[in-house]
Amino acid sequence: MRICRFDDNKFGLVEGDQVRDVTAAFGKLPQHAYPFPRVDLMIAHLDMLKPAIEAAAREGKVYALKDLRLQSPIANPGKIVAAPVNYKKHLDEARGDPAIHHQNQVGEIQKVGLFLKATSSVVGCGEGVAMRHADRRNDHEIELALVIGKTADRVSREDALSYVAGYCIGLDMTIRGPEERSLRKSLDTFTVLGPYFVTADEIGDPSGLDLELTVDGEKRQVANTRDLILDVPTLISWASSFYTLHPGDVIMSGTPEGVGPVLPGNTIRATIAKIGTMDVAVRELAPR
Ligand code: MN
Repeated sequence: MRICRFDDNKFGLVEGDQVRDVTAAFGKLPQHAYPFPRVDLMIAHLDMLKPAIEAAAREGKVYALKDLRLQSPIANPGKIVAAPVNYKKHLDEARGDPAIHHQNQVGEIQKVGLFLKATSSVVGCGEGVAMRHADRRNDHEIELALVIGKTADRVSREDALSYVAGYCIGLDMTIRGPEERSLRKSLDTFTVLGPYFVTADEIGDPSGLDLELTVDGEKRQVANTRDLILDVPTLISWASSFYTLHPGDVIMSGTPEGVGPVLPGNTIRATIAKIGTMDVAVRELAPR
């Protein structure tokens, strides 16, 4: 199943290049009062929602996917966990280029660990990336983003994939410079998730997926998730050894080689096999 969020919090079931409005199904989600649970409710209740979505799709208005302004399919992730330098060739490129490493030591992921991105940085592909430090180098990073489906506390690598609800294409946008990663990668709009959420059953094994990113048609990043240093099950197991993962938590699995700068006016096109393609416009944030 492929689920999108569009326009102003409508939900759609994606079928090829068409979308059926299934917003009515989301009325079945439990109502909460303060303090709200720190989970994504769509993901936490996905098993209950699936039949309701299928029923709503039979009546739902039909749209062309290309006409919709897509928001992040995960509306309320509790945390965004991200893997630094998780492809060998990207590690080599980062260590070899002062414009990427900025005298920061670029260590192996096993030594550096994971980092967190602010949840306020999340947008959908239709919302675009807004640069607020356009005088600095702002880079694209395409990543397979996985969404945790159920509470995961110290899970084994062998069991890890059973905790995945599904996948999105992720962009981990980054300002290059000497500051901590969590600062340089947490600007508003710097975590793009899209184009929609694909349930895990449609992907199967996430270890052989082609990724490609172009900027205004120029090929920048071409890779395959088989070249991840720590694969998806290892990332989940390792992350859950430090903190409990909750439904809707997102893990950005790391970017391959070929990172490079974007400028206002560029369009990033990101594709991951079995998920789809998304176009993301880059702009400079208007001054206040
Ligand atoms: Mn990254």
